[in-house]
Amino acid sequence: MTTTDVPPDATHVPAGASVDEKQARQVAEAAREAKWRKPSFGKELFLGRLRMELIDPWPAPDPAAVERAEAFLAKLGDFAKTIDNVQIERDARIPDEVLRGLAGLGAFGMKIDEKYGGLGLSNLYYTKALALVSSANPSIGALLSAHQSIGVPQPLKLFGTEEQKKKYLPRLAGGEVSAFLLTESDVGSDPARLSTTAVPVEGGYQLNGVKLWATNGTMATLLVVMAQVPRDPALGPDRPGDARQSEGHRGGITAFVVEGDAPGVTIERRNAFMGLRGLENSLTRFHDVFVPTEDVIGKEGQGLKIALTTLNTGRLSLPAMCVSAGKWCLSVARQWASERVQWGLPVARHEAVAKKIAFIAATTYGLESMLDLCALLADDDRNDIRIEAALVKLFGSEMAWLMADELVQIRGGRGFETAESLAARGEKAIPAEQILRDLRINRIFEGSTEIMHLFIAREAVDAHLSVAGDIIDPDATFGRKARAGARAGGFYARWLPTLTVGKGQLPGGYGDFGPLAKHIRYVERASRKLSRETFYAMARWRGRMERKQGFLGRVVDIGAELFAMSATCVRARSEGDQAGLELAELFCQQSRRRVEALFIALWDNTDALDVRVAKRVTEGRYTFLEEGVLTPEEAGDWVARYGSGPSTVEDVRRRL
Ligand SMILES: Cc1cc2nc3c(=O)[nH]c(=O)nc-3n(C[C@H](O)[C@H](O)[C@H](O)COP(=O)(O)OP(=O)(O)OC[C@H]3O[C@@H](n4cnc5c(N)ncnc54)[C@H](O)[C@@H]3O)c2cc1C
Repeated sequence: MTTTDVPPDATHVPAGASVDEKQARQVAEAAREAKWRKPSFGKELFLGRLRMELIDPWPAPDPAAVERAEAFLAKLGDFAKTIDNVQIERDARIPDEVLRGLAGLGAFGMKIDEKYGGLGLSNLYYTKALALVSSANPSIGALLSAHQSIGVPQPLKLFGTEEQKKKYLPRLAGGEVSAFLLTESDVGSDPARLSTTAVPVEGGYQLNGVKLWATNGTMATLLVVMAQVPRDPALGPDRPGDARQSEGHRGGITAFVVEGDAPGVTIERRNAFMGLRGLENSLTRFHDVFVPTEDVIGKEGQGLKIALTTLNTGRLSLPAMCVSAGKWCLSVARQWASERVQWGLPVARHEAVAKKIAFIAATTYGLESMLDLCALLADDDRNDIRIEAALVKLFGSEMAWLMADELVQIRGGRGFETAESLAARGEKAIPAEQILRDLRINRIFEGSTEIMHLFIAREAVDAHLSVAGDIIDPDATFGRKARAGARAGGFYARWLPTLTVGKGQLPGGYGDFGPLAKHIRYVERASRKLSRETFYAMARWRGRMERKQGFLGRVVDIGAELFAMSATCVRARSEGDQAGLELAELFCQQSRRRVEALFIALWDNTDALDVRVAKRVTEGRYTFLEEGVLTPEEAGDWVARYGSGPSTVEDVRRRL
């Protein structure tokens, strides 16, 4: 894709303006990549069409690239063994020599093309490398991933000019660190409230604002910063007073490459978290920071689209760390539960523990299959993988958390004890509690689970909205509604009959999958059922459907399970190895039971009651229940307001 393919955001909300729900949605909608240029397995799945040919046969990586990448992985693996996880946990700091060692291996340029000094790894091997290094210490995985997946390299790779690539990519491949700065204290899931400004000045822009929680922010020398360029009032409504500065500018949220050491950039704090203690995460202030025009990525107003498009494949790095955690949990569970004897048996032989081990094994296999498939599809570039990548992020972050929780349980009291304490009294330093803490953030960042549900649901119902959207849009005119009615009539007359019968009903359907064929048949039937249920829901709730987050979340979760089963079966059959077939069988058996429970819960749930009670909770009706414990003081801000102006605190940046 080139920059010109990405239209600017249609909606412009002035920086710092109060934003209502409708505007927030419009900004998100405008940032969406509306076109589908390539086929999408995920999109078809939600429409009740199981297009196995899009993922089967299992894509084969290029053998020459494999040889090079394996050689790199071997070196990385040797280096990772020298990393002291306990030390990083204790000092809350990744040592300089570890960062230098990684830079020396080329780990900061894994995703950067060779012609700019990088390793040019495929997505498959990039995710394998992240998984490997994360098993030494997850903060290192987070650092490398934020640097390459959302930091400067990826947006430049997709949207940068040749000059920008030549100027910045060699520095990054050589070991300079980059960060991505979107979040502000008022901007989390909802970018419409973005208040950092980039006001046009002679030769460039002047940046002002405060960015929160930037991973790598304390160390980064190159930043991607999202800021609002004011719009020329002649081109649309904007804050008064901007007319002279913004003349001719279409404005909107824009992505910039900014030098971390530019005058006016202050690292005001390094933030600390429940997990990922080695993370170098900042509160960064920009005061009158000059950014030359040539450092705009793409065009003005394309910032959010660039961020979202970057995440289409960028999202694969987070599940790589989830796969890493699953493999590690499996290894610890296997060794510990075979060794630890209680009540006359190794704990692995007690059914309650055995079930947890089986869950970890099957889920790791399923998750790895999903991730590898997504990475391979991204590499061969034939499919649009935005839905699949989002599904694996969602499913991976939820499942890894469950796996780590089960591991803590299997380890008993030792699961709750820190690695350092275990080692101090003579036992193996197994950081089970750390992995749980480190994984928790994955359900929140790079799209929280709730936002991923909405994002995927939006894509899942896209076909319906494109034909029938105006029918349910309260703002649509009578004429638009009538035209949409005619369009929808034609679409549904063709589409609905396809949902009644399919190959999944034929006893011999998908016979080439051998013993796994029954699961693919199930996926085919479940995909049609899912689509029918979505259609009923749209017919029932129409415009209110977007508020039915409980329903939409389950629809998406079912889709994730169906994609996981499909990936798992294709991989197991392709590898043909008996042990893999056994794990695929178990994964599908477990997944089908989750799907059945979700189908029931689509219509049998407490969603409406929950919403009513939550409203009453927030209105204070049940405060009697909070009595008897100490609750947070009334005084103090829930959300800090950082004023504009120069920094008044000491800069805490870290430089190698
Ligand atoms: C360790 C860490 C590292 C980070 N790294 C970066 C980084 O490198 N760069 C960067 O820019 N940001 C970064 N972030 C920010 C991160 O992306 C945000 O925390 C995340 O987007 C969620 O935003 P929020 O915390 O403001 O939550 P909020 O948006 O305030 O959400 C609060 C809760 O409400 C839910 N919610 C919000 N809106 C909706 C809705 N419409 N429907 C249903 N539920 C909703 C959310 O899912 C969440 O559960 C990082 C954060 C942390 C903690």
